[in-house]
Amino acid sequence: MAHIPYGRQDVTAADVAAVDAVLASDWLTQGPAVPRFEHAIAQACGVRHAVAVSSATAALHLACLALDLGPGDLLWTSPITFVASANAARYCGADVDFVDVDARSGNLSPAALRRKLEAARTTGRLPKIVVPVHLAGQSCDMVAIRALGREFGFRIIEDASHAIGGRFEDAPVGDCRYCDITVFSFHPVKIITSAEGGMAVTQDDALAARLTLLRSHGITREAAQMSRASDGPWYYEQATLGYNYRMTDLQAALGASQAQRLVAYVTRRTELAQRYDTLLESLPLERPWQDPRTQSAWHLYVVRVDAARRRAVFEALRVADIGVNVHYIPVHTQPYYREHLAARGVHCDCPEAERYYAECISLPMYATLRDADQDHVVHTLAVALAA
Ligand SMILES: *Cc1c(COP(=O)(O)O)cnc(C)c1O
Repeated sequence: MAHIPYGRQDVTAADVAAVDAVLASDWLTQGPAVPRFEHAIAQACGVRHAVAVSSATAALHLACLALDLGPGDLLWTSPITFVASANAARYCGADVDFVDVDARSGNLSPAALRRKLEAARTTGRLPKIVVPVHLAGQSCDMVAIRALGREFGFRIIEDASHAIGGRFEDAPVGDCRYCDITVFSFHPVKIITSAEGGMAVTQDDALAARLTLLRSHGITREAAQMSRASDGPWYYEQATLGYNYRMTDLQAALGASQAQRLVAYVTRRTELAQRYDTLLESLPLERPWQDPRTQSAWHLYVVRVDAARRRAVFEALRVADIGVNVHYIPVHTQPYYREHLAARGVHCDCPEAERYYAECISLPMYATLRDADQDHVVHTLAVALAA
């Protein structure tokens, strides 16, 4: 059997033609393909505004800035995530702390969040922003998290890097009914790709305007945003300190072309997840628990095995050329964050995150994974678990 990765992109002839057309056009950097891609994602999510940027990391950074996160402020997120969810706050000079995860889903736990908020209220160190991460494509319990946001006065950025095309309570992830801003990633391992790329979506007009300003140096050419009358057709103003976080038209054309297959991709991933659920039923492992209020986008299919055997099972799969992975090493245990927490005398109490990390293995999951390859993965896993 050929190498089977844990995730991979699917680039079609139509995608190549879409990118070719941009190369032959007048725009290479942000041009007409960017609003086309933004419109496609806004439509898919049922949201008013979508702002394309160079990566989800950039989108998280701008989302924090748009919500006025700065030095002295606190952002809380899940430790079972990619480091970028936390780094966004550090770029703004804010401090980061971590909330333990739910034992079953690995998503930020509303119960742990409440406990931590109540403790923080007594010390006056409440978070300004909480970033729930929809791990593996399954939405967090956003009803509970939003209720806590109202009670304790924090803003919410959903890190939906895994979850485009997923649903919660019968509505698409990204419609922002439970948050201020939702962020997506279009890195090649994610559900759809623009090579590098990300997007911030929001229902809030003012936040959308701020995100748009910040992604391109803080520069505006819109009369309504200017401090004084224009000097002429060349005139622009820098209203604030922004960045060059623009997406290129090449990336946006690829993303817009891929977005047409979003539903088909999530349908195939869901089918593969159901096949795994059936095929793995009798093996000594835990299959991914699903909250009945969610429909996952199935970015990852994560099984949990006895911690004492995880490494041997993982290595047996890798030896068989099956590209399993581990998502994630808890962010609070990374040397950078150990130091960041220790410098403030903060102890991160996240036993469920550490247990999750010790047990998890991400099996191959991508839209073009064939049934026969999946059968081979399951067979190899069964042999490894029996050893
Ligand atoms: C991939 C990912 C990111 C970062 O995405 P980029 O587009 O590569 O910057 C952030 N958060 C999570 C949870 C991710 O999986």
